[in-house]
Amino acid sequence: MTVDCHTHLSTFDHPGQSFTAIRDSLLATMAQQGIGCALVYPDSEPGTGVSDLDTTEEIVRPCPRLRMVGTTPIPLPDSGMIARLDALAAAGTIAGVKLYPGFELFYPDDRRCDPVYELCVRHRLPVVFHSGETMGEAWREPYNHPDHIVQVARRFPALQVVIAHFSQPHLEACRDAVLECPNVHADISGLAHPEVERLCGEKAIARILEEVATRKPERVLFGTDWPIGGVEEHLRLVAALPISDEARALLLSGNAERVFALGRPLFPLPMGESSDSWTRPGSGGCGTSRGAGAALRRGGCRPPRSR
Ligand SMILES: [Zn+2]
Repeated sequence: MTVDCHTHLSTFDHPGQSFTAIRDSLLATMAQQGIGCALVYPDSEPGTGVSDLDTTEEIVRPCPRLRMVGTTPIPLPDSGMIARLDALAAAGTIAGVKLYPGFELFYPDDRRCDPVYELCVRHRLPVVFHSGETMGEAWREPYNHPDHIVQVARRFPALQVVIAHFSQPHLEACRDAVLECPNVHADISGLAHPEVERLCGEKAIARILEEVATRKPERVLFGTDWPIGGVEEHLRLVAALPISDEARALLLSGNAERVFALGRPLFPLPMGESSDSWTRPGSGGCGTSRGAGAALRRGGCRPPRSR
């Protein structure tokens, strides 16, 4: 069962639609493309074109094929934010925590982030960093460069770290971080976007993914950045990689299931839902389907190039 570990409920290509309708569009896309489970990332701030923490929790909760991660702005808005994430983690509601360096002007190794990392270690949740291209403004990219993320991984060896978007266009730096640090992973979300292919080069993307998926097959995760990233295009990118069947299976599902601990039910069982319909740990899935800054600043992590 393929896991898309990086999606958003975003009005990017669903203008005027409710987040509930966008969620249903995501579920339909997943059904079409054979995606068994998707992780939904909220925006760290309310009122943008991407669902915030509260909205995401409400909308994702009824859908066994969807899981969410938590998030917070940095600096932490108040002392209650960690308590809130703590409660969400304890209840099994969140499968990780995502931070947005670059969108927000902090570095991952900023000590103000430490309470988030400590929380993740406490609950065995991964931390995901937005990395690479940010709002089409290159001056933001140093904030989320893999070199800073590696510092966090070294300081918190028990923390599982995921670099989003393979830090495109900084693919080599991301590769080096994954190869160097045993607790650093990377997702491939956005790499099959036509503009990213143009910027980084299709062959260069394929070559570097082949290298990392071959040398560290347990550390590369499938993701799309839907709705900005196309699911079909990303599946095609993975299908074309000259890697072993085992490495491909890890990339498409096994690594996400392990890193985000997707084998455990994340929400209390809905009324009338049999526990038998939930995936048990180790069974390799995500549950049973019952059916299939600025407003756009995180319409996914990549705003439209036209902006
Ligand atoms: Zn994203």
